[in-house]
Amino acid sequence: MSSYNWIDHTYDVVVVGAGGSGLRAALGAAQAGLRTACITKVFPTRSHTVAAQGGIAASLGNMSEDSWQWHMYDTVKGSDWLGDQDAIEYLVRNAPAAVYELEHWGMPFSRTEEGKIYQRAFGGMTRNFGEGPVQRTCAAADRTGHAMLHTLYGQCVREETEFFIEYFALDLIMDEDGVCRGVTAWKLDDGTLHRFRAQKTILATGGYGRAYFSCTSAHTCTGDGNAMVLRAGLPLQDMEFVQFHPTGIYGSGCLITEGARGEGGYVTNSEGERFMERYAPSAKDLASRDVVSRAMTMEIREGRGVGPEKDHIYLHLNHLSPETLHERLPGISETAKIFAGVDVTKEPIPVLPTVHYNMGGIPTNFHGEVLTKKGGDPDAVVPGLMAVGEAACVSVHGANRLGSNSLIDLVVFGRAAGLRCGATTEAGARQPELPKSATDAHLARLDKMRNAAGDQPVAKLRLEMQRAMQSNCAVFRTGSVLKEGVDAIEDVYKKLPGIDVKDRGMIWNTDLVEALEFENLICQAAVTVNSAANREESRGAHAREDYSNRDDEKWMKHTLAWCDEAGKVTLDYRPVHDYTLSNEIEYIKPKARVY
Ligand SMILES: Cc1cc2nc3c(=O)[nH]c(=O)nc-3n(C[C@H](O)[C@H](O)[C@H](O)COP(=O)(O)OP(=O)(O)OC[C@H]3O[C@@H](n4cnc5c(N)ncnc54)[C@H](O)[C@@H]3O)c2cc1C
Repeated sequence: MSSYNWIDHTYDVVVVGAGGSGLRAALGAAQAGLRTACITKVFPTRSHTVAAQGGIAASLGNMSEDSWQWHMYDTVKGSDWLGDQDAIEYLVRNAPAAVYELEHWGMPFSRTEEGKIYQRAFGGMTRNFGEGPVQRTCAAADRTGHAMLHTLYGQCVREETEFFIEYFALDLIMDEDGVCRGVTAWKLDDGTLHRFRAQKTILATGGYGRAYFSCTSAHTCTGDGNAMVLRAGLPLQDMEFVQFHPTGIYGSGCLITEGARGEGGYVTNSEGERFMERYAPSAKDLASRDVVSRAMTMEIREGRGVGPEKDHIYLHLNHLSPETLHERLPGISETAKIFAGVDVTKEPIPVLPTVHYNMGGIPTNFHGEVLTKKGGDPDAVVPGLMAVGEAACVSVHGANRLGSNSLIDLVVFGRAAGLRCGATTEAGARQPELPKSATDAHLARLDKMRNAAGDQPVAKLRLEMQRAMQSNCAVFRTGSVLKEGVDAIEDVYKKLPGIDVKDRGMIWNTDLVEALEFENLICQAAVTVNSAANREESRGAHAREDYSNRDDEKWMKHTLAWCDEAGKVTLDYRPVHDYTLSNEIEYIKPKARVY
């Protein structure tokens, strides 16, 4: 093995990730007087949060009457009753204050005539427990994530969060007692290696959309934190639930926000029919994402797709006024022009359901503390380790996330994690020495990958994985297709020892970065497809043709999945919390989910 030296750092709190959730958590920890570091592989304001378009949900009631109870009902129903209702109550009750906090920090929201925060309708968001659409999604035109991320970054700089930018986090430092002591990272621009010792390590590393061939997420969305958790011998939760967004641009996968339908857009098939009226008579084009994605897939399957191959659907905005398009949807007008060559004022946009969001992730409670199942306790906290954002599974989104509920999840639970750090961490407390051996395995893994000289290029293996996930773990699933997927992913896994990395350097070695990211993705692909094959029911985004009903008796439970070094997946379960946080709202009992 080549020789390496660690550069050591000590902080009270170290946050991995500088998207909306990581920045909000880092800000909270710094405000609590804790010395806080934030490590990120890309510049903070280039995190995927910057691409969020449509908005952030909170029951402000600026444009129509609204209440947190209605928001809670919609989120529970959207989750197909797999969400934990204590966590959902925490989310929706804290949502308005979290949005006003962003406003007071200077986030440039779009405005109503009276100067209030502008809100638009979004899928599955209703008034009076399902009666009709409500305008709940606060927006800064169609560039809400951009506005939010820049606002949060500014506040972090003000609170003197210490940033470690273009540091690639490798692995969690775990001691023999299962306590997390920090994280290791590789500094990409000079090749040095770093150990960050901390009382609390917060993973905010985002989703893993790139396990699929076509997705709306950035190339950096490789779920590195999720993979670190699996390598630490801890489970991920509900990984079978992958959200397909109905309107990715055909071909490129770039997102056209649901806000486009919120502003009055609609989808049609080759007969020019507004088919959503058949599938969701009441909510129509604003039914929740899994419902619209399945309806589109059915239309294409039944031969009513558009285009020469009849393999996509049209999204119409051309009936909206040019002023609305210019003012409310300027970003997607430009995206449609660049990626589909379409002038949205005149023509429909060709679209297709595309992987968009991971409901599953690192199990946590609503304080952001990571959970594992230990000695029969399904809610055992892993000391020293926390997770927030898309990487985490709190679980508020359950089997299907509602649009605009992620951005609010980032700031509400980012804030909660900061508060928890403040309450449970003593600033500057002495930390035990890190045993050298604790991080030897991290070096060995890095060194092995750096010197890998097999015959399987990273890009080839990645493509095999992405194709298998795209065709075998898609919008509709059956036992046999999923079994094929399990085998295909296992085959790719077996080729991992034969991977080929050409660049042996340590400075800006993007070849090695991609190899490490692929290694991170493949274990998540394995737990995803295995969890999906195991769940014999249909719930939210997990639609089994061979088990077309939801089965609350057998499957009202969270899946936990572990993955060993050889790629072997072990599954277990945690109960869904059937209680709320306060006595101001009762547990919302399961019923059929129709829109
Ligand atoms: C195109 C698009 C539009 C969307 N629109 C909306 C919307 O309108 N409303 C809504 O609610 N949701 C939307 N979503 C979903 C939402 O934007 C994401 O779920 C959310 O932004 C994720 O934020 P995050 O903080 O969890 O992670 P991200 O923003 O993905 O950030 C991850 C961070 O982790 C860091 N990181 C990752 N791995 C490593 C590593 N190994 N070492 C160091 N750092 C690492 C990265 O550098 C980055 O800073 C959209 C998503 C997409 C893809």
